[in-house]
Order: sequence, then structure tokens, then C-alpha cells
Amino acid sequence: MPVYKAPVEDVMFLLNDVFPIERYNNLPGFADATPDTVEAILGEGAKLCEEVFAPLNLSGDQEGCTRHPDGSVTTPKGFRQAYEAYAAGGWMGLAAPEEYGGQGLPSALNTIMQEFVSSANLALGMYPGLTQGAIAALLVHGSDEIKKTYLPKMVEGVWTGTMNLTEPHCGTDLGLLKTKAVPNPDGSYAITGTKIFISAGEHDMAENIVHLVLARIEGAPAGTKGISLFVVPKVLVNRDGSLGERNGVSCGSLEHKMGIHGNATCVMNYDGAKGWLIGEANRGLNAMFVMMNEARLAVGVQGLAQSEVAYQNAVAYAKDRLQGRSLTGPKFPDKPADPIIVHPDVRRTLLSIKAFNEAARALVVWTALKSDVAHRSSDEAERQQADDHMGLMTPVVKGVLTDLGFDMAVRAQQMFGGHGYIEEWGMSQFVRDARITMIYEGANGIQAMDLVGRKLGKDGGRAIMGFFNEVGAFCQENAGDESLKGFVEPLQQGLGHLQQATMWFMQNAMAKPDNAGAGATDYMHLFGLVAMGYMWAKMAKAAQARKADGNGVAERMDAKILTGRFYMERMMPETGLRLARISTGADATMAMPAEMF
Ligand SMILES: Cc1cc2nc3c(=O)[nH]c(=O)nc-3n(C[C@H](O)[C@H](O)[C@H](O)COP(=O)(O)OP(=O)(O)OC[C@H]3O[C@@H](n4cnc5c(N)ncnc54)[C@H](O)[C@@H]3O)c2cc1C
Repeated sequence: MPVYKAPVEDVMFLLNDVFPIERYNNLPGFADATPDTVEAILGEGAKLCEEVFAPLNLSGDQEGCTRHPDGSVTTPKGFRQAYEAYAAGGWMGLAAPEEYGGQGLPSALNTIMQEFVSSANLALGMYPGLTQGAIAALLVHGSDEIKKTYLPKMVEGVWTGTMNLTEPHCGTDLGLLKTKAVPNPDGSYAITGTKIFISAGEHDMAENIVHLVLARIEGAPAGTKGISLFVVPKVLVNRDGSLGERNGVSCGSLEHKMGIHGNATCVMNYDGAKGWLIGEANRGLNAMFVMMNEARLAVGVQGLAQSEVAYQNAVAYAKDRLQGRSLTGPKFPDKPADPIIVHPDVRRTLLSIKAFNEAARALVVWTALKSDVAHRSSDEAERQQADDHMGLMTPVVKGVLTDLGFDMAVRAQQMFGGHGYIEEWGMSQFVRDARITMIYEGANGIQAMDLVGRKLGKDGGRAIMGFFNEVGAFCQENAGDESLKGFVEPLQQGLGHLQQATMWFMQNAMAKPDNAGAGATDYMHLFGLVAMGYMWAKMAKAAQARKADGNGVAERMDAKILTGRFYMERMMPETGLRLARISTGADATMAMPAEMF
């Protein structure tokens, strides 16, 4: 049975020493989030994930979901009770506004909890995860009446939420969508069409399911400018808030898929279902973007989460599995062989994963705190700066953390040799589950295009310049610190590569957009390498300061610094390779006609 321990200590290092949470005291909800309270909350969350969610991961994968002839869906054994424990613990509304029954705590805490939940059981965690995304969209774009009708039940967790974008003929290109909405005399709309791949579209965990659905109002313009967003409940809600008749929406079938078997991926048939407009007509994509941006960050976290749990199991195995002898002579001469963790290639693999996980977690925490600033600060300049950060970092967190999350899960699986390929060890599941994170919420090639095509040039490049300035200022401030030389110099070099790549796009991609398209994925990864390098430099600085305090954490801080050193020496140099690829342009990529493939 695979093991999982939530990395609470590592998170607390980030919140105490790297991005001290106390600095955010001026924001609503943060006054109650003292370090001790945060540690206690995360400790409780860790317990739920380790003791309730994780033990159901393997069995949920093996059992999967079942659709019955009446269209109802049963989730794997234990999922409903685990979900109920999550809802009863108040986790759904951890960061939701108090007026709707939430606790109003920092959304950063929720993001951190999402990592624990997704490591413990990705398929199960998607049910509440999607609900939280739907809550966010309704909070921003729902009318008062819609908010009053749906939010308290969703925050309580007795109703769940979904997002319905994809149709058989369109996923990336939503301008093609056909689901139609016809106005009813009572102000509602009749929604008709087929949505596919809808996660948590039908299940047995909640009394009601609140679908957020993109559709085209009859007569609306073609393309993305004619798309509207609707709330379509599975069961209609009476005026007094009680549940009424069943709505005209049902699950037509379940997809048989590579991973996340415990999550019901549904074909949803809308047959004149009653729906209510959210936000303005024809501005539905805009409203849905609130949910999509939340979900993109959450999916990035899912990538990290699969890498983390796979790593924990790979380390345990590498310390236990006896094969061969150390190149420098036996380390355990009393045993028939040394544990495989003595071998440099095994250590290289494990350190790559560890270095990615810890930097990715720092990037997530940093970004999640920025999200709180963007949504809660009363200072306009501070809000704008945080908003710039979010725009720039969302595709990076989604694209890089899921590409690498999958890659790292595969590396962790490799540590098990042939046993990694056998289902009962659980490593195969981590790899299979991680794979979807690169695809949904906008496939990663689309994230890269979003970064290069939209985010770089937005507001005259204000966001990217802000990032360059911040990292550059850190390098300058710490240039004289001998103990940080191994961090600052490679970071400075990586930043230089990123600046050159950005400049190259400015000079070569305007007139020839294929140059941007062909280099976008390399650019996104180059950005990720530098952002994570910056995280390592900040963590190394904080770890050194903490170690100097001498309060019994020296060994942990040494491990931090050594892991960071590995990142800087063995992973950061990839920035040069990425820049070299980008600078060759699109010619080699585009020269071959399609028929020659
Ligand atoms: C298990 C699972 C769960 C899902 N859950 C949901 C859900 O809850 N709600 C929902 O609405 N959807 C959901 N999806 C759908 C998912 O978001 C889409 O599959 C995804 O957005 C890609 O769309 P597509 O499959 O139509 O691929 P396509 O859009 O056909 O793309 C195919 C490939 O072409 C590339 N491509 C397309 N256009 C471009 C371009 N302009 N430039 C560069 N590359 C391009 C893409 O990157 C991709 O690699 C889910 C899918 C799965 C498999």
C-alpha cells in the first residue's frame, strides 16, 4: 500500500521564513491566520488526507465509478463518506466569505490543502475542487439571488459544482460550441446540447449538482463573442430553497479512461434543462474565466501533488531495496547488498524530484498569497501588482508544474524497476493520474501560447518587467553574500537567458507569429526554471538565516540548502538549452508540408 505524509513542515517553513504570512496581517481574513493557527489547521487537514483520503486511492482506482441504467452514478466504496468528512470539517468553505457560511480564511490555505488532498487522492479531491471553482465564479458574476440560492449549500458542501465547456467537436476552440439556450417566458433559459468529459458531472455524494454551462443564446453571434454562461442545477430549487423537480439534465455515459478512475467523467445531455444566465449575455467566457483561472492553478497543484506522493514512495523504496554495491565500496557490509539509495544515478533521480517539488511548492504558495492580495487588498497599486503576477504565473504554474509533475512521477516509478509497472505498488496509478493534468484546463501547449501570445505583451509588458525587476533586485542585493554565490550567480544567468528569449520574441515574433508558436513551450519551461530558481535562492537565504538561529532545525535547513544546490547545478543550466532552441525560430518546425508527415 503506498504511503503519504502531508508536507506540513515544509509549508510552515515557507509561511514562517520565506513568505512570512504575518506580513499579510492587513488583509481581511489574515488576522486570524497566525502561524500557530495555520499550523493547527494544516495539521488537521493533513490528518484527514493521510487517514481518510489516501487509504481510498488505490481501491478507488481499481473499482472506478459505475453508471446505472437510470443515469445515476455510484462512486467507489468509501468516497461518499470521505467527502462527507471533508464537508463536515468545513474544508469546502475554508476561504469562502462568512456571509455564505465560509470561514473567510486566506485562500492560500485552501491552495495548500488542495496539494494535500490531491496527493492523497486526486480523483476524490476533484469533487470538492470543482465545487470551489464554481463558488468562485458565482461569487464574482452571480446575481444576489443566484448567490443566495446556491452559495450557502455549495459552501456547506451538500451541493457540488461542475464546469461544462467541452463538446464533442470543440475543446480548445470554444468558439465552435453549439449548445443552445432559448429564453423561457419566466426569465430562465432552456438549455439543449451535449457536453463531454464533464468531471464530477453525476455522482452520489451530494443532494444536488450545480452545473456551470457555456451555451449560445439563440441568435447570438458566432464564435467566442456569442457565448453565455448559465447555472443549471441537477434538481430545481424551490423559492424557499428546498429541492423541487428533477431538471432536464442527465449523465448519458461515463468515459473509460487512463487514470482518475474514481472521478466520474461524464457525457452530459441537456434536454431543454432550465438554466439561469450568469453575468452578461455573450460575455460567458469572461465569467467562466474566473473558474478556469482558479482551476488552472489547482491543476498545477495537482501536478506537484502527484510528484510529491510518488517521490515519498520512491524514497521509502530506495532506502529499502537491496541491489548492488556502492561504487566506493559497500556501505552496509553486513547486508547481502546496499540499498539502492547509495547509487549516484538513483540519488540524481530522487534529488531531481525533491528539488522540483520543493521549488514548485514555494511557487504555489507565493502565487496563492498574491491571489489573496489581488482579491483582498485595499491598496490599488498592490492589487494591480498582484494581479499582474497572477496573469503571468497562471499558465506557468499550470503548464510547467503538470509537465514536470508527470515527468517526475515517471522518474519516481523508475526507482521501483519492474515493480513500478505492477499495479499493486501504486506507482503506475500516480503516473496515470498525473497524465490528465497536462491535458485538461487547457492543454499545456495552449498554456504556453497564452503566456507568450497574451501575457507577455499585456499592458505594455508591465507584468514581465515587474518579474524581471524583482528577480534582478534580489540578485543585486545578495551579490556580495559569499554563502549565496552558488544560488545568485546561476539565477542571474538564468534570468539573463529569459530576458534574451523575451527580447528575441519581441524582435522576431511580431512579423512572424510562427516563431512565437514554435518557441512557446520552451519559453514557458525557461520561465518555470527561472521562477523555481528564484524560489530556491529565496529558500536558501531563509534556510541560512534559520540555521544561524540555532534552534534545532539545522539538519532540516542543511537538507534544504543541499537540495537547492542540486537544483542550481543540475537543473538550472537547462535555461541555456531552452534559449538556444527558441532562438532558432520556426523554420525547421514549419518547413515540412503536412502531407510529408
Ligand atoms: C478526464 C478528463 C476530464 C475533463 N474534465 C472536464 C470538465 O470537467 N469540464 C470540461 O468542460 N472539460 C473537461 N475536459 C476536457 C478538456 O478540458 C479538453 O479535453 C481539453 O481542453 C482539450 O480539448 P480537446 O480534447 O477537444 O482537444 P483539442 O482542442 O482537439 O486539441 C488537440 C491538441 O491540439 C492542440 N491544439 C489545439 N489548438 C491549438 C492551437 N491553436 N495552438 C496549438 N495547439 C493547439 C492542443 O494543445 C491539443 O494537444 C476533461 C477531459 C478529460 C480527458
